Amino acid sequence: MFRRLLLLACVSFMLVWLIDESSGIISPYDAAAYPICIAAFAVIYVASRYSSHLHQSNLHLLAYLIVAGYLISTSIWHHIGSNALFSNAAQWLGLNYVIAYLFLEVKRAVSTTIVVLAATLIGHYVVLIQNHSLEDTMGVVLNIAVAHVVYIVLLWTVVRLRVKAAQANSRINLLENYAYVDLLTGILNRRGLERVFDELGIDQITKDSQRYALMIIDIDYFKQVNDQFGHTMGDKVLAKVAAKLNRAIRPEDIIGRWGGEEFVVLTLNRTPQEVLALAEQLRLGISQLSLDDVSGITVSIGIGFSNLAKTRQEVFNIADSNLYEAKQSGRDSVRCSI
Ligand code: GH3
Ligand code: MG
Ligand code: MG
Repeated sequence: MFRRLLLLACVSFMLVWLIDESSGIISPYDAAAYPICIAAFAVIYVASRYSSHLHQSNLHLLAYLIVAGYLISTSIWHHIGSNALFSNAAQWLGLNYVIAYLFLEVKRAVSTTIVVLAATLIGHYVVLIQNHSLEDTMGVVLNIAVAHVVYIVLLWTVVRLRVKAAQANSRINLLENYAYVDLLTGILNRRGLERVFDELGIDQITKDSQRYALMIIDIDYFKQVNDQFGHTMGDKVLAKVAAKLNRAIRPEDIIGRWGGEEFVVLTLNRTPQEVLALAEQLRLGISQLSLDDVSGITVSIGIGFSNLAKTRQEVFNIADSNLYEAKQSGRDSVRCSI
């Protein structure tokens, strides 16, 4: 972005130089200043591209100071002389503030624009007072001062509003994250899962040729863990089991905590054999977990396939009744309907 702007600055200065030169209206000041500015932009471009030592924000400031320096100095230069009370170059001075607030950090823009304003006023005062009365000089300088202060205040207000809006947005994102993520395990909570299911259009998938499978994974005899080792240890076990499950699935699979000691995994476009293999892998992985003093943690898994049902709720019901069967048949096992 910054380097593209530098190229734009280079091209703009070259074009203006070419136009001024060919129409014969170029001032001696600009004839010297244009090539200097173009060369300076080119040097900053190279530095920004190839130097890792120079801080990019310092290069931004340097590029800005070249533009501002040129605009102020050319305006001052055009005010030298007895019949130059107000020159065309002055109307571009407002750009100094716009560019500062657009491209510099807010704090830096505030201090830089104050310095730029002071330089503009002092510079114009010094050249105008040579050939004009104090009254005329002050008239022009105060005119510039008022217009430029309006620029600065307006830009500062707009930028402050933008910063506040950005802060509010990131706070909203954070709160949204809290609403959909389970605090204990760091995976999606039930609301988060429902939202992802909606976003994926799970209910449409049921009618299409695509398929998905839902697994309900329930920790066996978890109440005993709490009873024996306390709730804090129970929480640790929940977090470890969630982390293990999360590591074992593919990135495109979805996992969340449905509630209590129950987790749900959604897999898309796997064959029933692949889903079964994954479920077995998850079950085995949990049974091999080492958890401080707590040993022998196991899970039971019920699977529901989308091609055997019409709605998401039906797939859930199938998975749930398979989970019930897994529990009935002694736990630490996987059940599905195929
Ligand atoms: P089953 O093998 O039949 O699933 O037996 P279970 O003991 O795992 O099932 P049950 O539904 O009887 O007990 C679940 C327990 O999970 C009861 C509840 O206190 C505990 N639990 C639910 N949420 C949390 C939690 O956030 N932290 C802790 N430590 N325990 C929880
Ligand atoms: Mg349960
Ligand atoms: Mg349980």
